[in-house]
Order: sequence, then structure tokens, then C-alpha cells
Amino acid sequence: MIVAEQQTLVLIKPDGLKKSLTGNVLTRLSETKLTIIGAKIVKPTRDLSVAHYSHMKDKPFFEELIRYLMGEFHTPRVMALVYHGEDAIEKVRGICGSTNPEEADPVSIRGAYGRITTKGVYENVIHASTNEEEAEREIKLWFKPGELILEPYPVKEEVASNYRRKVWA
Ligand code: UDP
Ligand code: MG
Repeated sequence: MIVAEQQTLVLIKPDGLKKSLTGNVLTRLSETKLTIIGAKIVKPTRDLSVAHYSHMKDKPFFEELIRYLMGEFHTPRVMALVYHGEDAIEKVRGICGSTNPEEADPVSIRGAYGRITTKGVYENVIHASTNEEEAEREIKLWFKPGELILEPYPVKEEVASNYRRKVWA
């Protein structure tokens, strides 16, 4: 079977950062032998969080989920990474474990470190894309082309002269 090269978006969620699990999570993910092609720390805005979880908007816990991703219960930081390589999506999801941390394999990241809050939100430490379509949407949401060392999707150039941006003083 020929397995395609894929990209997948990984987020270490605010509970993972607050609990100092970044190193543990990255070590577990290194078992995949995939390549990290982008990485950064982000303070998620409400707009970004709502866009990321737009498929959950009808869930009763949606507002809690948005507040969780924004870091209101832990720390307002997320580590965003893009992993690249053969079968990247399945490999990463396997190490993450099931969505519900109580049902996840205890050896998986979510099984080992996740919890369910009294409000019913799964604080499950990590996000990983579930399919290629979701990965493309999510990677484009969290990263600009210049922030990845590969261009996994088509890009175009724009000349922008009339906008303000910060540069080092
Ligand atoms: N979630 C939750 N309760 C649920 C289902 C989902 O709190 O019953 C949260 C959980 O943090 C999960 C996120 O919503 O990671 C997105 O849900 P999805 O079904 O996409 O699961 P995932 O792809 O993260 O495994
Ligand atoms: Mg999902």
C-alpha cells in the first residue's frame, strides 16, 4: 500500500502547558518519526477559537470549550505545531488516544494526562486533525505560509504597501 505524505495540526492545549506537559507530549509525538515543519506559541483569540471549533457550535458545552481553548481555566497559551510525513494524521491521532480521556488508552497522551471537568468538558491536553480536509483548514487557520518550512498547499503573493505592522525598533 502506498501511504501518502500528509500534514496534521497539533495543538498542545492550555491544560497541557499549565501542567508542564509540553516536553512529555513532544517526546511521545517523536515516536512517530514525523517532521515538525512549523511551531509556535499562540494566545488564542475568541475568533480563532470559535473558528477552530466551528463544528462544535451546537454542543451544550461549546462556550466552556471556547473558554478552555482560550486558556481561561489554565493559561492563555497554546503550542501549535504542524507535523509532516507518511500517514501523519493516523500516527498522531493514535498517540493522542480517544477524545474522552476516561475511555482513552491509559498509555495514550489523553489517557495518561486528560480529565473531565464537572461541567463536562474533556480537558484532553492535545488536539490533532482527524482527516486531510480538516488538517488543511486548521493549518491555514493557525499558520501563515511563511511560518512553515514547506508549502504544503498552494500559495499566492500579494503586494501590500498600505498596512501597519510591528518590526524590531
Ligand atoms: N469535547 C468535550 N466533550 C465531548 C466532545 C468533545 O469536551 O463530549 C471537547 C474535547 O476537548 C475535544 C473537543 O471538544 O477534544 C473537540 O471535539 P472532537 O469531537 O472534534 O474531538 P477530537 O477531534 O478532539 O478528538
Ligand atoms: Mg476533532
